[in-house]
Amino acid sequence: MKNKIIAAAVIMAMAFGLCSCKEYHPDTSDDSSGAIWTGGDFDGSGFRPTKPISTEPNPASANGSTNSENSEPIDEPYVDPFEEPDTSSDIPIGETIRIKNGEEYVAKSGETMVLSGTSEIEEGGSLTIGSGAELLVYGDLNLNGTLEIGGEMSIAKNASISGSGRIIVEDSFDQINCDGYVTAEIVPPNPIEVDGVTYVGGVLVANKMYSLPEDYGSGLSGELCAALDEMHNGTGYSFLIMSGFRSYEVQKNLFWSYVEYDGYDNAITYSAYPGTSEHQTGLAVDLGWVDEQYAYTEEGMWLAKNCQDYGFIIRYPQGKQHITGYIYEPWHVRYLGKSTAKLVHDSGLTLEEFLRVEG
Ligand SMILES: [Zn+2]
Repeated sequence: MKNKIIAAAVIMAMAFGLCSCKEYHPDTSDDSSGAIWTGGDFDGSGFRPTKPISTEPNPASANGSTNSENSEPIDEPYVDPFEEPDTSSDIPIGETIRIKNGEEYVAKSGETMVLSGTSEIEEGGSLTIGSGAELLVYGDLNLNGTLEIGGEMSIAKNASISGSGRIIVEDSFDQINCDGYVTAEIVPPNPIEVDGVTYVGGVLVANKMYSLPEDYGSGLSGELCAALDEMHNGTGYSFLIMSGFRSYEVQKNLFWSYVEYDGYDNAITYSAYPGTSEHQTGLAVDLGWVDEQYAYTEEGMWLAKNCQDYGFIIRYPQGKQHITGYIYEPWHVRYLGKSTAKLVHDSGLTLEEFLRVEG
């Protein structure tokens, strides 16, 4: 059987563009002020401290100096107090924040917050990126409190979010664009069911606990095929599809033939009961060689190490049968898209653990 994948030009989008820089206002309606905003130009940049800068002690007067009496008057440009300064293009790259215990900040709709350098959200502190707002992480965010994502978050290559805190994803993993490295705990939204199909944060779940309707699925996902093609072109490995989309009917025949051959108790550890196969989703494929030895081939080793960079995860890792319900399958990959695959991979968790669903 030929397993030719239609070649598709994959255009690598620029990971980041500063096309929508807007001012970030810490939530001044909350009186828990006092965060330390460092690295910013409080005079002209988009960033402002929660407290008016005039309340900061003046180093000159702190020294008891009365220089001001002798100073020449300074001609300051006239600023219309009723006109909001246009700061849409001068948010500096290089802001850091420190949010302390008990402090809560909210980025509101239309606002973009840009972090680089080393920022910190301490235990008991929280930052909420509200719906319509955006957080761009270019540096290292040490997260020991809570980061709630209701809007969007991008984590640049070489940037990181680490620590003992939690990232709460309100709606969908599509809200996160991760090229960097996240080791902080990620809390997904609760599962929802749409037309008999279960999703967690936009990720379709098909396993022994969450089945698909009999009529679900019609073929392999185009995005999966493009990613596979990109992986093949990038490495030279063939990644032959040994098994791609399987309809409910095909899975039914396959499963019961395994049962006949091997007994139910064995068959269920490597073959899915009809309606519970990831192959019916069109988002999973068996590659190369359906044998554990595939893990020791050059191609299999490359796949295990790098497939997340192309949007895949090894869905049934070694030693996780008690969680996934399946034996180690180094050949079976699940397509999640690059960002989510990277988050799952870097978490070190199975998909069930990452999404907090039973297997
Ligand atoms: Zn498979």
